[in-house]
Amino acid sequence: MWFRQACRRLVNARAHALPPARTLSTSSRSAFRTSRLFRIGLASGGVLTASVLLGNAVGTIHADAAHSEGKTDSERHKTPLSALIRTYAVYTMCSIPPLVDYSPAILSALSSVPGLKQFTEAFVRATFFNQFVGGDTAEDAVPVIEKLRSDNIGSLFVYSVEVDEAQATGQAKHDRETEQTMHKHIVAETLHCIDVAADFEDKHSGNNGTSVTGRKTWVAIKLSAMLPRPETLYNFSKHLVASRPAASPPIPFPGRPLPTDFNILSSNLPPDSPLSSADTADLQELLEDLRLIGARAKARNVRITVDAEHSWYQPAIDAFTLALQREFNKLPAKPSSFFRSSAPSEPANVQPLIYQTYQAYLRRTPGYLRQSIAAARTGGYALGVKLVRGAYHSQEIVSHEAARNASDPSSSHSLSISPDPQPPVWSTKPETDACYNESVVMLLQQVRKDIDGEAPRIGVFFGTHNWGSCDLILDQLLKLGIARKDETGTVAMPVETTERVAIGQLYGMCDALSNSLVERTRCDSPFVLKYLPYGALAEVMPYLSRRAIENKTVLGNGGAAEERKRAGAEIWARLFG
Ligand SMILES: Cc1cc2nc3c(=O)[nH]c(=O)nc-3n(C[C@H](O)[C@H](O)[C@H](O)COP(=O)(O)OP(=O)(O)OC[C@H]3O[C@@H](n4cnc5c(N)ncnc54)[C@H](O)[C@@H]3O)c2cc1C
Repeated sequence: MWFRQACRRLVNARAHALPPARTLSTSSRSAFRTSRLFRIGLASGGVLTASVLLGNAVGTIHADAAHSEGKTDSERHKTPLSALIRTYAVYTMCSIPPLVDYSPAILSALSSVPGLKQFTEAFVRATFFNQFVGGDTAEDAVPVIEKLRSDNIGSLFVYSVEVDEAQATGQAKHDRETEQTMHKHIVAETLHCIDVAADFEDKHSGNNGTSVTGRKTWVAIKLSAMLPRPETLYNFSKHLVASRPAASPPIPFPGRPLPTDFNILSSNLPPDSPLSSADTADLQELLEDLRLIGARAKARNVRITVDAEHSWYQPAIDAFTLALQREFNKLPAKPSSFFRSSAPSEPANVQPLIYQTYQAYLRRTPGYLRQSIAAARTGGYALGVKLVRGAYHSQEIVSHEAARNASDPSSSHSLSISPDPQPPVWSTKPETDACYNESVVMLLQQVRKDIDGEAPRIGVFFGTHNWGSCDLILDQLLKLGIARKDETGTVAMPVETTERVAIGQLYGMCDALSNSLVERTRCDSPFVLKYLPYGALAEVMPYLSRRAIENKTVLGNGGAAEERKRAGAEIWARLFG
């Protein structure tokens, strides 16, 4: 019982579980490697190194183990001892708030001492990198994907890059040459990532690679990293908020996308437009790049999820994702009723290729989901939904407040572009929880209808570390009759369900929940996926530093300490149990 509660508390600390956006603003790739975020990450590593060396890790294993309970044998044998020790060290470091708080400052000192930089990098690689990242390259991550698959866990594979928020408002210095190189590199790497995912599935999903079902290596993309400047997405969002006709019934900011959103690319810019001609050229290029990605994903049968980001990028991200869904999730035309009886049955994989991420912390989500389901039905395309709670709650609140309090919002530093008086996000955690769980029920009812032949086609991926939400998902699958309990009490799912529904957690986090879900379910292909980033140490350092620095919000609740205790208890049981 304590274990379950501990995991819940840990999850509360992960409000910013994903990188907000990316930044590649330096004048060369090598310069990028020494960017501010990189230095912050290294600082965290250096300080945390000291904590481990001071004996924080090993010395308390025994004491912590005394409080452990609730382990199962299968859980005990899943994770190698070396990985448990690493987990213990990482969460020990995350449990010491002052170390994390002061790590950026300490970094500068460490990296200015010859020899220490290399030591710190090596330490970060052995700890945070290996805990949360699959490898330096897509190929390097394949053994991790293999290992996960051997435990019947799939992967949501992602080339991890982050963007400097200062770029959103043009406050960062731009180096056009580097920006052009980097965003094209990210697009090219994403295409490569799709190929690596497809090659893995061709090898593993049966029928000599010809099977179209059970393919559970998907690819995630983050749009703000695929433009020279994220400011362009921001400006496009402003344009859309000002120009979209009101929805009926109304949908709170950031509203809902429309097929007409890209009309601006073929018309003259009005003089007061927030968009420049350079912006429209970059938007056009992004559209073309995304169509390349969609075409490759379709040809290789790899599903794509589009990450959700801050609300000030979301109108633009929604517009791009809708365009992709309308093109790549398009369903074959129905045969006329005269021929219907003789038509071959549809293959089980006519499910969405492109998934949009919905953040339950946004007030718009219930209305927006209903509108999306209706739009997919009338538009004749399959709806792909990835449901998460949302990673940027505190930044959304701060930005909204700053915009409301500024006498002239345009002169403030707030990034908020919401015209609504209320913040775009719910004010309390129970409101977000209620929204998430109501959305689970709505979406699974839609899955039931789809299996029964009622439009629209739908695929749903639930990204969460919340045990209660995961329990609800399993309960609903049973209640709706799209899964059944077998004689051992395991939740058994047919292919019609596993092609439409999956659950995911971040790699390196809440493995106990992932393992528990695997053990409580039975299906031919993975029902559980891990969000698995990869990239060179310097490239993923922002992601890592976020794991360390943002996890400090959990520390007040003791969440990281609980995860550490879990690993400690496991180590103790392996060595002496
Ligand atoms: C596979 C996967 C993919 C993800 N992809 C994305 C993505 O594309 N975009 C994205 O934004 N996030 C993404 N996330 C992160 C996700 O949004 C959450 O931040 C994270 O998972 C924590 O939420 P939870 O459901 O796991 O757990 P919980 O701990 O139960 O919920 C924490 C969440 O509750 C919400 N919350 C906390 N305090 C308050 C408050 N005072 N008022 C209102 N709400 C509050 C926040 O959303 C916070 O993240 C992803 C997570 C996973 C596992």
